[in-house]
Amino acid sequence: MPLVPMKQILDEAVKSDYGVGAYNVNNMEQIQGIMQAAKETSSPVILQASRGALKYTSMYYIKHMVMAAVENDPDIPISLHLDHGNNLETCIQAIKLGFTSVMIDGSLKEDARTPTTFEENVEKTREVVDYAHKLGVTVEGELGTLGGIEDGVGSGIVKLTDPDEAVKFIQLTGVDTLALAIGTSHGAYKFKASPTLAMDIINAVEEKVPGIPLVMHGSSSVPAHLIEIINKYGGKLEKTMGVPMESIKEAIKRGIRKINVDTDGRLAITGAIRKYLSENLDAFDPRTYFGAAREAVYQTVKGKMVDFGTAGHAGDYKPCCLEDMKKEYQGK
Ligand SMILES: [Zn+2]
Repeated sequence: MPLVPMKQILDEAVKSDYGVGAYNVNNMEQIQGIMQAAKETSSPVILQASRGALKYTSMYYIKHMVMAAVENDPDIPISLHLDHGNNLETCIQAIKLGFTSVMIDGSLKEDARTPTTFEENVEKTREVVDYAHKLGVTVEGELGTLGGIEDGVGSGIVKLTDPDEAVKFIQLTGVDTLALAIGTSHGAYKFKASPTLAMDIINAVEEKVPGIPLVMHGSSSVPAHLIEIINKYGGKLEKTMGVPMESIKEAIKRGIRKINVDTDGRLAITGAIRKYLSENLDAFDPRTYFGAAREAVYQTVKGKMVDFGTAGHAGDYKPCCLEDMKKEYQGK
């Protein structure tokens, strides 16, 4: 099975009313841990790479590691998505590399820090949609800005999405899916107390564009036990909170279909490696502690696949390819 366009994975999630995790990946063990969880729970999966990941892996490694996952687990629908593309060139680069989905984050200027105007965002997003859809590639846009900074992306300014603008944005750009700013935040330090998210924004958009798959960024739960492991074995992370799983489940009920998870994977890996090396002072075979990291990613992601409702849906549909999607866009 080739890589699947993300639009199909999300449209199927709309049909059966569940969420799909989009997990950031940078190395082999992360990909293997996520894939083991997907296989065991029979879940479709979105693997996403940020610009930081492309740089870290010199692009070709990320592509071929994901292709290895496709070959290793042919029964799991896998989409490869560019997270926070900052301009058309970056999106073209990812598409040429074989990504089946790209995000153009037109909410920020190319520096990934300065907020844009609505009109600038529409223009920037529209040109990516025009390019990508001709090739059958899915496009995610973003309207509004999140708090926090992750991988160098973020203005630090929170601007919740205006639902009426979101509807206009979807119509003007033709995006397949849209990231909303509903009060979540990038990075590990999201909230001091349990957050109140602006869930009504999801309903307001769904009401006017029924069935549009919506996206939640900054959706790691930052589980206390992961922070504790890191700190128990020599780390010094401040006490912090992420987005509680109950809030994510509520958002899925209202129309969120793609849930971005980066921080939790990072925390799981760091905790596992710290623990292993602290408990095994004579260890020097990287397979032992990278193996522990892989296991921690697997455990963390497996729980999310069950909680998001993704589990059990890998075999629901016949995966399509970019050629099929090209025809679908042409028919529009
Ligand atoms: Zn994001």
